[in-house]
Amino acid sequence: MGSLLFSISGLRGIVGLGLTPEIITEYAAGYGSFLNGGKVVVGRDTRISGDMIKHAVLAGLLSSGCEVLDLGVVPTPTVNLMVREAHANGGIAITASHNPIEWNALKFINNEGIFLDGQEAQDFLEFLRKGEFRRVGWEEIKKIDNLDQAIEIHIDKILNSKIGKNHLKKLKVGIDAVNGAGSVAIPRLLKKLGMDVYPIHCTPDGNFPRPPEPLDENLEALKKNVREKRLDLGFAVDPDSDRLAIIDEQGNAIGEEKTLVLASKYILTKNKGPIVTNLSTTRLIDDIAKLFEVPLFRTKVGEANVVKKMREVAAVVGGEGNGGVILPELNFTRDALVAITLVINLLSQEKKKVSEICKELPQYFMIKRKIIVKDWLDRKEKIMKFVTEHRFLQNATVDRVDGFKFISQDIWIHIRLSQTEPIIRIISEGEDFEKVKQLVEEVEGLCVA
Ligand code: MG
Repeated sequence: MGSLLFSISGLRGIVGLGLTPEIITEYAAGYGSFLNGGKVVVGRDTRISGDMIKHAVLAGLLSSGCEVLDLGVVPTPTVNLMVREAHANGGIAITASHNPIEWNALKFINNEGIFLDGQEAQDFLEFLRKGEFRRVGWEEIKKIDNLDQAIEIHIDKILNSKIGKNHLKKLKVGIDAVNGAGSVAIPRLLKKLGMDVYPIHCTPDGNFPRPPEPLDENLEALKKNVREKRLDLGFAVDPDSDRLAIIDEQGNAIGEEKTLVLASKYILTKNKGPIVTNLSTTRLIDDIAKLFEVPLFRTKVGEANVVKKMREVAAVVGGEGNGGVILPELNFTRDALVAITLVINLLSQEKKKVSEICKELPQYFMIKRKIIVKDWLDRKEKIMKFVTEHRFLQNATVDRVDGFKFISQDIWIHIRLSQTEPIIRIISEGEDFEKVKQLVEEVEGLCVA
């Protein structure tokens, strides 16, 4: 059972080791009962284990009297979108997102097409603990509707929105969908936007040909494709297509942090309003907010926290530095299809290459580290004292909303415990790479010494 985790982001585990059909059926029946029946939308990514998990989910939902709308293999944001489109009571997305192939997970969506937030997840867990499930008799078992046009509906929704109607310059666009749920959806979207499409890793069979996170170091094949075919840019997504990374026309990864920056830049030229992102996201977002004179709000890390704040302040755009862009007028979740459309609109509007747009932004260097620390509580005081007194962080302000973030003029560092794994995350960004490197290495040294 060691691998099974329930957190704000859902139920995750290693298939066969903890994540078994029995557990999955229980959670699905529990969610169906928690929703008190009604229609529930289900979709999955391309993972080999997806079919096994889906059938366990369907059994659980049907046993609790739910009607099911089964979308088959679709990007996760398509599930969120379809909950609203189908006026469903909720949804379950079957995906372990960027985790390696042996993992799978259930992510629970409420009737507004939004992932459960901290409080809702707590309420659901409490409900599961009580175990007061609805178990209907044969006469109340509802049907499963299979909908194979969900991707079309998602794409049409984008094309019929303000960002889908502009006349766009025809670009040569590469796409690496890691043989995941974006394999069909993204090339189709790009064609409908009028682009010349050059796909790689777009066979939706769930055999991930590269590590699933769209990080710079995992995108060599796409970079080569962009260089050799002289493309204008390349896009890469994770297996469930909520995170987007961009390769410039020279075949260089611009870094996931910039996806939200470019997407926000386009939106703000059309619709000025607040931006929301998490505390770990690049300072470039502050620069963009300043440029357009709009307020920027930062939240704890986690999509649910960002979405909650976005609703509170009526944000026009939001997201996270991991390549997740949220455009509330279309979908209240990170959506790579929406992000792609925004970036292409920006390129078309500015009539510039990706590298040129990036060059106009201030240059910062960011280092992210993930460290296993078993005795964090014993070390915490020492580490905090060290950082507080650090020579680079004199006069720094400290934000304690989510771990500790020390912010000074030219450098910041964010140290937080992960909510889903026994690890500490250290993120630092500054104008001078050597300073960022030194600071991170020194803190890292204290974590493992
Ligand atoms: Mg994902």
